[in-house]
Amino acid sequence: MAFTLPALPYATDALEPHIDKMTMEIHHGKHHQAYVTNLNKALEGKPEADSNIEDIIKNISKFPMAVRNNGGGHYNHSLFWTILGPGAGGEPTGALGDAIKSTFGSFADFKTKINEAGATRFGSGWAWLIVTPEKKLAVCSTPNQDNPLMDIAEVKGTPIFGIDVWEHAYYLKYQNRRPDYLAAVWNVINWSHVAELYSKA
Ligand code: MN
Repeated sequence: MAFTLPALPYATDALEPHIDKMTMEIHHGKHHQAYVTNLNKALEGKPEADSNIEDIIKNISKFPMAVRNNGGGHYNHSLFWTILGPGAGGEPTGALGDAIKSTFGSFADFKTKINEAGATRFGSGWAWLIVTPEKKLAVCSTPNQDNPLMDIAEVKGTPIFGIDVWEHAYYLKYQNRRPDYLAAVWNVINWSHVAELYSKA
């Protein structure tokens, strides 16, 4: 059983005007597909080719760099598509909304922390909201296709929300203006799904 590209849960133009159709087509259909293809190549003939991606990610130090990069790419993007959604945005309510307020002061302060984590990540990477092993919320960032679930991560936890800050996520529409992309992405966050991930973490 090889890893496969998950279908997008909405149309490629559904996040317009904040994330454009062509970016979504290339990001999902080319970039994510390449991570899946190269992950399968890297695991070909190995017993781990049949295990689930979370188990691989949690033990990533035991794998070669090709699995770290492409397995991370597959895990991260699979999460990313589900936390975005058309007609979304606004603020989380319920337990997640309360936890964000008690941890960061306010939703606005949380947004600032994520935007800073994304804007200051040099080169390519991700900004994350995680649930730590102590069951607290925290914001962090990782380089390349690493993530906080990896046993090699500097800050560890279960990611429940992540923003891709690779240039391929925004360059066609926003060119070098990563902060403009970061400002726009808040309009398309599917908070009910993030809340669901929070309740499971
Ligand atoms: Mn990406």
